[in-house]
Amino acid sequence: MKCPDCSTTMEERRVPTYDLGDLFGLSSVTLRNPLAHVCPKCGLVLVPGHAIDAAHERLVEVILGARHVLSGEEIRFLRKAATLSQAALAERLGVHRVEVTRWETSTVGVSSPVSLAIRAVVAHALFGLEGDKVARVGTAFDPTPMGEAPPRHEIESAA
Ligand SMILES: [Zn+2]
Repeated sequence: MKCPDCSTTMEERRVPTYDLGDLFGLSSVTLRNPLAHVCPKCGLVLVPGHAIDAAHERLVEVILGARHVLSGEEIRFLRKAATLSQAALAERLGVHRVEVTRWETSTVGVSSPVSLAIRAVVAHALFGLEGDKVARVGTAFDPTPMGEAPPRHEIESAA
């Protein structure tokens, strides 16, 4: 394929890391060792859509299965992955929609039980009653105080 920026023929090769943070709306998501198209002239790196989709799917499972208290951006990421509106997530949790907005903008932090409830709602929305996947939802929590920097995520490229 040709580079969309400079029309040079791109080379296909693995790159050590590729940043998916902006695309996923998270502070730090690093895709490790993906196969990419690299422009030898201007240096543009493009990772194909299927690899990004696979990384997205993997990251959802990683965050669902982790034990830390969810950050605001992770709540938004999980909610969108489950294609739930703020109102729909709020209704399932029995809170006002404004509360979900406050969590997602990190105006207020969530408690450990609320983190678990969000993970369970999202897992159910995504996987239905597939017990093996729902069972991977974190059931204990790191005693990480709220207000710490959002977690950094690293995913090994599947493609
Ligand atoms: Zn180029």
